[in-house]
Amino acid sequence: MQTTTKIATIDSQLSELDQNIYFCKKCVTSNQRPRITFDEEGICGACRYAEEKEKMDWVSREKELRVLLDKHRSGDGSFDVIVPSSGGKDSAYVAHQLKHEYGMTPLTVTWTPFIYTDIGRENYDRFVQSGFDNLLFNPNGQLHRKLARVAFDVKGDHWEPFTFGQKALAFQIAVKFGIPLIFYGENGEVEYGGSMKNKNKPFESVKDWERLYFKGAGVRKLVEIGQDTGIIKPEEIRSGALSIYEAPPLEKIEALGAQMHWFSYYKKWVPQENFYYATEHTGFRPNPEGRSEGTYSKYASLDDKTDGFHWYLGFIKFGMGRATRDASMEIRAGHIDREEAVALVNRYDGEFPQKWFPDFLKYLDITEEHFWKICDGYRLPHIWDKDGDQWRLKRPVI
Ligand SMILES: [Zn+2]
Repeated sequence: MQTTTKIATIDSQLSELDQNIYFCKKCVTSNQRPRITFDEEGICGACRYAEEKEKMDWVSREKELRVLLDKHRSGDGSFDVIVPSSGGKDSAYVAHQLKHEYGMTPLTVTWTPFIYTDIGRENYDRFVQSGFDNLLFNPNGQLHRKLARVAFDVKGDHWEPFTFGQKALAFQIAVKFGIPLIFYGENGEVEYGGSMKNKNKPFESVKDWERLYFKGAGVRKLVEIGQDTGIIKPEEIRSGALSIYEAPPLEKIEALGAQMHWFSYYKKWVPQENFYYATEHTGFRPNPEGRSEGTYSKYASLDDKTDGFHWYLGFIKFGMGRATRDASMEIRAGHIDREEAVALVNRYDGEFPQKWFPDFLKYLDITEEHFWKICDGYRLPHIWDKDGDQWRLKRPVI
């Protein structure tokens, strides 16, 4: 696989960034996070939402949940809800709650990571062993890595095909099994900062996907570019090869009445508590190395050896990485204050994911030189300065 064609980015988020960088006064997230909103006091939407969560009438929200589940519960042991789950702390919590607290019969579905870590695979196995039916889906490995390569080049994020597949698989399985109810964990847009469009809604429409999750272009755009650049051969796109990366036709979704709900709408979402819960009930274990590269936390996103590069490229594109996200979440949950958060961000954000770098290059079939060329191509002049041969953030959080 070689191409030296200089490919322009198709990440529509980048052209929408405010050239004037500022940070939330409460957390450590800046206005460079796509779709984030700030109020007149300089507080971001996610922090405001966290305040609202404290005052929310969770009792009546839970009643809504019971009404919904009563409508769908099979009662005879046949599957009545699809739960996309990796065996990670959040999805394990949701699946376990639905089964044991609400008497549902979940069919859990897993879109396989690009390259499983040992701890990721062990957590997945322990989750299934703790009493869940599961379908583990592996997409065509050759096409998948080529899609990841194209996405890395043109979107600065190899992670895209995983996002496509993970979102689409649940609906594909729902339609195949005739199970209209799908439960995801949290609405990331409102919990971590982004579009507030669905803030007071328990579910979202499939029509929102392209804009919210796919950076303005779905899998077919990747294939088109992949073919133009010679990375993907026409014969690799046999009929139907891409359907697993896309939601089923809208008429099929509507005929089934399939809906994807967020558990976080019905019950207060606290990632740290999900961690304790999953540890106790589904055998979840945190990172045995103590923390993940690029952050100080030890229990989120552990499954995939390539995961660190998704965060690292995010740091390059937006000036914020994984530690920013983790520290912001912890401020909102009241676990740390802003001063501690700033120190954590300065210490860990943008740390290079060295450990799996050779595996990542090999997976994408790229050279180290190509890797850095793409990375540097995503450094926007309003975010980065070059000091000698050192890149520096123009506006680090203070
Ligand atoms: Zn904030």
